[in-house]
Amino acid sequence: MPEPVSPEALLALDARHVWHPYAAMPAAPAPYVVDSASGARIRLQDGTELIDGMASWWAAIHGYRHPVLDAAAQAQLGRMSHVMFGGLTHEPAISLAGRLVELAPAGLARVFFADSGSVSVEVAIKMALQYWQAAGRSGRNRLLTVRGGYHGDTFMAMSVCDPVGGMHHLFTGNLTEQVFAEMPPAQPGDESWRRRTAELFERHSDELAAVIVEPVVQGAGGMRFYDPSYVAELRRLCDEHGLLLILDEIATGFGRTGTMFAAEQAGVSPDIMCVGKALTGGYLSMAATLCTDAVAEAISNGPGGAFMHGPTFMANPLAAAIAGASLDLLQANDWQTTVKRAEAALSEGLAAARDLDPVADVRVLGAIGVIELTHPVDIDRVTRRAMGEGVWLRPFRNLIYAMPPYICTDEDLAAICRAMVAAAAA
Ligand code: PMP
Repeated sequence: MPEPVSPEALLALDARHVWHPYAAMPAAPAPYVVDSASGARIRLQDGTELIDGMASWWAAIHGYRHPVLDAAAQAQLGRMSHVMFGGLTHEPAISLAGRLVELAPAGLARVFFADSGSVSVEVAIKMALQYWQAAGRSGRNRLLTVRGGYHGDTFMAMSVCDPVGGMHHLFTGNLTEQVFAEMPPAQPGDESWRRRTAELFERHSDELAAVIVEPVVQGAGGMRFYDPSYVAELRRLCDEHGLLLILDEIATGFGRTGTMFAAEQAGVSPDIMCVGKALTGGYLSMAATLCTDAVAEAISNGPGGAFMHGPTFMANPLAAAIAGASLDLLQANDWQTTVKRAEAALSEGLAAARDLDPVADVRVLGAIGVIELTHPVDIDRVTRRAMGEGVWLRPFRNLIYAMPPYICTDEDLAAICRAMVAAAAA
């Protein structure tokens, strides 16, 4: 066993060598050193124990060190942790693909495994572009999306993120110029949104390959909820103009909004769908892009005769085995009741924030609770205030939010709400 390194020495090395997400080098303030995590709790190296309000960026739905997921990982390690997917295949990936098709909205029958959410979005867009190339319509090469979205940090994904809140200003000239409709409203029946969006379709449909949106919940673009009827309206407009609909369920998939996939709330099946994050219960990085037979057939019979993508770690058996076990757990644990319980606890616990001065809005959907402030949050201050309440939160912009593991008890959820309200008040 190597000698344990002191927290100070670790942090000095971290500051010297390790780049953190959306951070300068070195990160300021310094990150906290995690020693271990189990259940819904993260343990820091100094002994502090925190209830996890973030599920590690919305992925660890069953919490940490879950015995069923640990056992699945260990069993798979005894066979192989990885093998290439070109020319070879294996049971964990085959079973997982079958499970995903069973759970997904009707018509999605083909599964392409990717190694992260952003890559699965690249794959989805590439599928749409190759689909139109195969049809001899390579001029159909732009995407339509709505403002306020987030689809990842790779280049095509960035091009469909919100043009103001995203990173467009840093990469002007490098990002494909996409077509942006207005953000879909929270309330149903907005005829003017429908009309203006329909006009955009009219104007651009000859150059559009597909529409891509996060259904019902816009996550990292601003934690906004919109009425499912607008997803159905986008489906209708896509059908009218012969466009493909891509739904990015990376954040919303696997029960987070109260249905297995948010698309179900709109009664809609997309042509292409991305899943990631909670797919492996937050254990390993894995994502998948599902598509219909029609999309797969068009690409396979097109000029290239193949879909041109194939990551080194595609369909990683270890991740696939854990993902299969995570889906078993989800279904065995009556996730509908669990998510409803979380929704009720978050609604009750966050109600106290409504009357606070700097609070612009409080909203809850499924196991997602959001306090929107009237001004940007001081991330460091909010984090420390929540830690003072024994809770881990990671706010951004003007948003203090929680997307906790589904295994949180009512007491855990109450503590998370108390921390969020205290942080908002601070
Ligand atoms: N799409 C959505 C809706 C997401 O929320 C995210 C991650 N926050 C991504 C894509 C990108 O996924 P990843 O970080 O795994 O690349």
